[in-house]
Order: sequence, then structure tokens, then C-alpha cells
Amino acid sequence: MEKQDPAHVVIFPLPGVGHVNSMLKLAELLSHAGIKITFLNTEYYYDRVIRHSSDGFSRYMQIPGLQLKTVTDGLPKDHPRTPDKFTELIDSLNLAIPPLLKEMVTDSNSPVNYIIADGYMSHAIDVAREVGISIIYFCTVSACAFWSFHCIPNIIIAGELPIKGTEDMDRLITNVTGMEGFLRCRDLPSFCRVNNPMDLQLLLFARETRLSVRAGGLILNTFEDLEGPIFIGPLNAHLKVRIPEKTHSSSGLWKVDRSCIAWLDKQPKQSVIYVSFGSVAVMSRDQLIVFYYGLVNSKNGFLWVIRPDLISGKDGESQIPEEVVEATKERGYIAGWVPQEEVLAHKAVGGFLIHCGWNSTLESIMAGMPMICWPSFADQQINSRFVDEVWKLGLDIKDLFDRNIVEKAVNDLMVKRKEEFMESADQMANLAKKSVNEGGSLYCNLDRLVKDIKMMSLRPQNC
Ligand code: UDP
Repeated sequence: MEKQDPAHVVIFPLPGVGHVNSMLKLAELLSHAGIKITFLNTEYYYDRVIRHSSDGFSRYMQIPGLQLKTVTDGLPKDHPRTPDKFTELIDSLNLAIPPLLKEMVTDSNSPVNYIIADGYMSHAIDVAREVGISIIYFCTVSACAFWSFHCIPNIIIAGELPIKGTEDMDRLITNVTGMEGFLRCRDLPSFCRVNNPMDLQLLLFARETRLSVRAGGLILNTFEDLEGPIFIGPLNAHLKVRIPEKTHSSSGLWKVDRSCIAWLDKQPKQSVIYVSFGSVAVMSRDQLIVFYYGLVNSKNGFLWVIRPDLISGKDGESQIPEEVVEATKERGYIAGWVPQEEVLAHKAVGGFLIHCGWNSTLESIMAGMPMICWPSFADQQINSRFVDEVWKLGLDIKDLFDRNIVEKAVNDLMVKRKEEFMESADQMANLAKKSVNEGGSLYCNLDRLVKDIKMMSLRPQNC
């Protein structure tokens, strides 16, 4: 009997730590199930990881059946590729990628049966349709955020958007089905805070989310007890269940500082609040100082990730007041980039001051860690509302900002209301683990995806 080639999937994330890391996790799970994977990074992103991070992609290069390839993002070399230029990046990818993708998936030496594309890459759907292969979208944001993006046109038509300058930010938004009772203007994604309904970013998110219905399926990296009935994630938990013998560190853009673990080892149980604002968010020096005072004055221990590019502008860390520097030496630890999942699992950590990026939120939930949310952009505003109001896993301090508020929130989370938050975080973590373990609903969903991909490889192409 002729030997059947393994199913072959091309996976293409947007170039950002949160997107690449979560899709790499899916790639690892699929290759563990015997599926061949070609994982695409843009050249610019790949070079940054290789140049700055200690282990780059080396762990993934050793996974049999998983190959990494790079493609151009179509932007000139000196383009800044900063978050405020997101629409330029997406437009450029939508022009540059289709011909490359088409060439790749029709290569007769290594035929591709399936594309898994990041949720903002509608161009990939056209390629898949043209060559007659299946495509599904991978959504790197939460289901609640995805649904709110999807409803943007309805909110605009109903006159609830745009948000005007003088607006009461606590006004309820009534045109996102299922969220009528608690979604306020301030909880909408950051790109909704514009005066102009024709704003390019607003239209881009609305357009790309609506176009996702043209894909053959949608993977949402979440779990049922958290967000309803559709899903596969949390992928970090799947990896731990299915490939337990390996450590599953994420790739990043900075060198991982492991010395923080030795510091945590010396701290009392659940005494430390972990502070991180992810890989993209920036803050002013004034905001940094507010956090410093809030943390130091709370008298709790803290481990804070201050990336080399966290502070916007040039004045940076050199002007941090001497008194907070001294107080930090006593009970704080500053690192440039940490092994986050390991930190969250450490017994000394008792809370997470988080920006509510979706990967970090899921990692926190899986670790049973209560959160203080200070969202920055995109889906983070709505995630933080859900953490506080719906899931009861912590406190949302968006748009409230002074050192006393930070100090009070840290003490509420770590001391006064500790038991209450720990209990609900524990319950949610247990529900997540149950659904990812063998026989659980998410375990079965992932098996179904693998089966579907393998079936596609048995089907003749271009039909
Ligand atoms: N992360 C990490 N070390 C750090 C800070 C963050 O490994 O010091 C990882 C974190 O575990 C998460 C990712 O970076 O997987 C950040 O993704 P997220 O979606 O939370 O936020 P984004 O960076 O996209 O804003």
C-alpha cells in the first residue's frame, strides 16, 4: 500500500509576542499529534527574536515535523512597526502575503492541506479558496473581545459609537448581545475611543472580525466555563497535559532573567505581587512612578517586569526618586523579562498586576492567580471588565490612576479580600483544568481539530 503523506498545516500569526507564542503552542500540540507544520514568521519579527532573546526559537527548531519559515511583511526596513502603525502593517501583509502563501501551499513537493491564520489576515482566506484547501482562523484575543469587535458596526448604527470627548464613560452600551447589563463605554476596546466613526483602526478591526465568518472555522483560545460554548484553549494547559515531560517556556523578544526565581524562593508564601504589562504596552515615566509609589507604599513584596522599552520617551529610569529605589531594594525585584508561567506557578506569588493581554490573563487564570487590571489597549479594556465584574477574579482599576489607588488595590487583593479572590481564582483554575484533562470538553475539541486536519490530507486537492 502506498504510504500516505502526513497532513501538512501552514500556521501564520501576526508578528507580536502574544500572537506568535499562542500559535506556537498550537503548532507544538499539532506536531505532537503527527501533523507536519510550517510556521511562518515575518523576517523582521524573527530577526528581533533571534537578536534579543537568549533562546530565540531554538526549542521549536528541535520539534520533529515543525519547520519555521520567514516571509516579508512588505514594509520598508526602516518602518517603525509600532502599535500605532498597526493598520499599515495589516494592509501591507494583506498585499505581500497572498502570492507567497499561494506559492507555498501549491508546492507539489510538500502539499499543504490546511491553513491556520491569525484572525486579522483575511487575505489568507482568499488564497485558501482559490487553491481549494481548508482554512481556519485562530483568534488570539478573548471570545468576549472578539464578540464586541464583531458588534462594532451594530454599535455604530445604533448611535452608541463613536465615544465623544465629553462623554460619560460609564454610559452602558446596549448593542453587544449578552453584555447589555455591564458593558460601559470605558470597557470597549481602546480603538473605540475615537470621535470619528471612519477612524482607520476602528474600521480595520470591525472589517477583519466580520470577514472571519468566511473562514471554515474559528479557534478561540479560551474555555467553556469562562466564556461559553465554543472552544479549544487554554493552549498552555493543553501542552502541560499532553506533553508533560517538557518545559514549555515561551519565546520572547528579550533575554529571560531567571534570577527572579531565586529571589522568589526566599519570599514568604503568597506574599509577592507579580507586575507585568506584557510585551507591547508602554507607559510614561510619571505613570511608572505612580506604580512605584503604590507598590512600595502597599508594603507587599513585588516582582516587576520593566522591559527595556516599557517607558515611552527618553528620560527612562535614571530619574526614579531615590526613596522608591531604596524601598524597592528592601521588598521588590525588577527584571527585564521573566519566565512568566513559572513565576505565576511559584508559591511566593499571590497576585498579578496585569495589563490583561489575553495570554497573560489565561496564564493567570490557569495558575489560580487573582488580578489587578490596568489595561492599555485593544481587547484589554473588555478583558479587565470581565475579570472584575463577570468572573470575580480581581479588581479593574482602568482609568483610575494615582498612587493611593494602586496601593489600596494591592492591599485589597493581597490582604483584605485575599481569601475571597483566592477562592474564586481557585475555582476557575479547577474548571479550566477539568476541561483540558483527558475526557474534558476542550481535550475532545482539540482531538476533533486534529482529526479534521488529518481527514483533509486524505482528500484530493483543488476540488
Ligand atoms: N511574558 C513573558 N515574560 C515576561 C512578560 C510576558 O514570558 O516577562 C509572556 C507572557 O507569558 C505572555 C506574553 O508574554 O504569554 C504576553 O502576551 P499577552 O497576550 O499577555 O500580552 P501582549 O504582549 O500581547 O500585550
